[in-house]
Amino acid sequence: MADRYAVVGNPVAHSKSPDIHAMFARETGEDLVYERLLAPLDRFVETVQAFRRAGGRGCNVTVPFKGEAFRFAGEHSERARVAEAVNVLRFDGDRVFGDNSDGVGLLRDIEHNLGVPLRGRRVLLLGAGGAAQGVLGPLLSAGPARVAIGNRTLEKAERLAARFRQAGAAAGPCARSFEALAGEAFDVVVNATSASLDDAELALPAGLFAPGALAYDMMYGKGMTPFLRAARTEGAALLADGLGMLVEQAAESFLVWRGVRPDTANVLASLRAS
Ligand code: NDP
Repeated sequence: MADRYAVVGNPVAHSKSPDIHAMFARETGEDLVYERLLAPLDRFVETVQAFRRAGGRGCNVTVPFKGEAFRFAGEHSERARVAEAVNVLRFDGDRVFGDNSDGVGLLRDIEHNLGVPLRGRRVLLLGAGGAAQGVLGPLLSAGPARVAIGNRTLEKAERLAARFRQAGAAAGPCARSFEALAGEAFDVVVNATSASLDDAELALPAGLFAPGALAYDMMYGKGMTPFLRAARTEGAALLADGLGMLVEQAAESFLVWRGVRPDTANVLASLRAS
């Protein structure tokens, strides 16, 4: 019987992860099936445990359970430990290993697929939830001139920034409410809020996009989100959705589970074409 994997989230119906992993499995010859699991908001652990009992070998974890997945895992990779958020679980017998592939996925998409180096750039990360936590460490390690975290709830951004300042990161991040970003400009603005899931607009001040800026929405499959529309109006030169990040983090998850990293270029091109 093929090994079983799944993506667990709420909502999860929009997830393209099953298509991506089916393509990876064909490409690499690995024998696996991958499904979507909708977990009730108060039953993440029960949902994952039921999947494990039914023979599940691992899962991806998406909004809003990455913090819970971190607490659920008994062992962590270094990058998951730093992020305190987990988007990859691997079940090794009685043990549960948690990893975080979001950061490496985002970096690879921005720097390799989109050709935008982050070294020396001013980066604004919008959001302070599981996705932002996962990508902040890798973003800082890419050597940007500065990283600001903007969040609707300022205290969450402050807590996240403080954690990474304590971790001794070279360019320590600063925390801002959306209003307090007025007057600042950035070369790369990453939307890691879940606002685009509900087609909600972010109450951002004007003038955030420096000439030539990249606007990156981690959301995918929604076309021009309110964030990307606003970025275009504001003069951002390059607009990107999160499909590339999704494919890259999926390849990294596949590596954690199967020990082989699939090639992503064809999968990304085929998803874009469809
Ligand atoms: P969480 O629920 O953990 O965090 C949500 C964040 O969004 C919080 O910072 C919250 O702010 C903010 N937010 C939500 N609604 C609004 C709004 N209307 N206005 C302003 N801020 C808002 O979610 P995740 O961090 O796990 O996921 C965030 C997004 O990233 C999701 O859309 C997810 O699909 C996407 N994602 C994409 C990936 C990819 O591979 N492309 C990978 C990972 C995530 P507050 O603190 O004030 O509540």
